Amino acid sequence: MAALGDWSPEEFAAAGHEVLELIRDHLAAIDDVPVLGRCTPEELRALLAGPLPEVGVPFDRILADTRERVIPHLTHWNHPKFFAYFPSGTSGPGIVADTLISALNVNAMLWKTSPAASALEQVVLGWLAELAGYDPGADGVLVNGASLATFYALAAAREELGLGIREQGMAGRDLPVLRVYCTDQAHSSVDKAVIALGVGLNNLVKVESDAGYRMRPDRLAAAVAADRERGYRPFAVVAVAGTTSTGAVDPLADVAAVCRDHGLWLHVDAAYGGLYNILPEIRAQADLGVGDSLVINPHKVLFTPLEVTALFSRRGGRLAAAFSLVPEYLRTDRPEGTVDYMDFSLQLGRSFRALKLWWVIRSFGRSGLAARMAEQLRLARWLHEQAGADPGFRLVGGSPYPLVCLQAFPADLQAAWAAAEPAGRAPLARYRDRLNALVMERVNQGQAGFISHTVVQDGYVLRVAVGNLRTEERHVAALWEELQRAAVEEDRMLRPGLETI
Ligand SMILES: *Cc1c(COP(=O)(O)O)cnc(C)c1O
Repeated sequence: MAALGDWSPEEFAAAGHEVLELIRDHLAAIDDVPVLGRCTPEELRALLAGPLPEVGVPFDRILADTRERVIPHLTHWNHPKFFAYFPSGTSGPGIVADTLISALNVNAMLWKTSPAASALEQVVLGWLAELAGYDPGADGVLVNGASLATFYALAAAREELGLGIREQGMAGRDLPVLRVYCTDQAHSSVDKAVIALGVGLNNLVKVESDAGYRMRPDRLAAAVAADRERGYRPFAVVAVAGTTSTGAVDPLADVAAVCRDHGLWLHVDAAYGGLYNILPEIRAQADLGVGDSLVINPHKVLFTPLEVTALFSRRGGRLAAAFSLVPEYLRTDRPEGTVDYMDFSLQLGRSFRALKLWWVIRSFGRSGLAARMAEQLRLARWLHEQAGADPGFRLVGGSPYPLVCLQAFPADLQAAWAAAEPAGRAPLARYRDRLNALVMERVNQGQAGFISHTVVQDGYVLRVAVGNLRTEERHVAALWEELQRAAVEEDRMLRPGLETI
């Protein structure tokens, strides 16, 4: 590196090639890399800590350190054996698009500061709406994640109440108690949103869900009516397409009918499930168009790198009514039909997220995306069938998406459970839950994959989400074998303690 200025073009080309080769080699060999890093925090600190460099370090050294000290100790989200949480895998076009986005470094806050980026954002938002089955003419914006998108949607809904909160705030004046509704299966970002909006956690009503973990519209209607009776002001419902624990879909049409009856804003959180609407069989089960607002996460299932979420609202102008605020230094003459994307959220400076979506969607095409999603579903259904046919396992919930929720539950204990009175089931439930926690630990210490868990009415549940572009049948088959082996082994070791758990 010279004394002043950036890398020379030659230095740039050399370093760029090396990085691309590193990415190529990393992805080509990723199958053999453990999904989870094994280092302790102390080991990591020892590996990575160092004095602030006074003079520049040669790039070769930086790259070698990254290769040797950083990458092996990551959790590899872009790994074919990553089955935990929800997927967040990326693709060639997404990866190289991010490099170009950094090089252009456009700030997409105003049309004037980013004409083609803003125009492209309009284009890809229209495509995403079409893929998810939402009004392609709706207002939309790309933001960093679903959590903030839900906050923005609820802020727009709160503003629509006409209580003057934007100007006068909520404290020190006579306002009704505002109420929001979702189930206990909704994502914690809804809880965070009501914290930040001044609605308060006590005014987020957790509506009962049914045995399949879907919102009960009758309970929603009853809760809203009771709140009205008490003088509260219900204003929004968050329904979910792809709940975080089990991937359930709330009955959107019925929930929308309750919202219409009571004049409530319906926000549909389809962060995980929404883009599976590319598949007609999924779309038939989840009409996302009923939402006044909708959030979908391309960084989860559309093979696009973090962070990119799409927020839509068919209530034209409502997001801007909540968030548009133009100081003199940002005032521009904007051509007719164009958008200043800073008007739709709290974010002013915004990266050129539209480009990576444009590259990914154009590279795969709708049919290419659909084929890959259909394959994920096929693999998840295969696992679902295996677990369903194994007397030592039990399936929980039932998601239309490629997420399988299952429990190791030895056949003799399942029989004992079925024969026991509800009161006599508690020790069996404790044993089952302990067993599954051990099974997960054992699987995640092995090489077959990384899975996660949840706790729902059915107890401790193992979650296997299939969603990486590189996941093949052999990966799912190996994971299933490992799950079976772990279940038998852990049961064998734990069983002597059955009476004392
Ligand atoms: C993943 C997810 C979120 C949070 O998304 P971020 O983009 O990480 O903020 C919210 N809701 C649901 C249903 C999700 O699946």
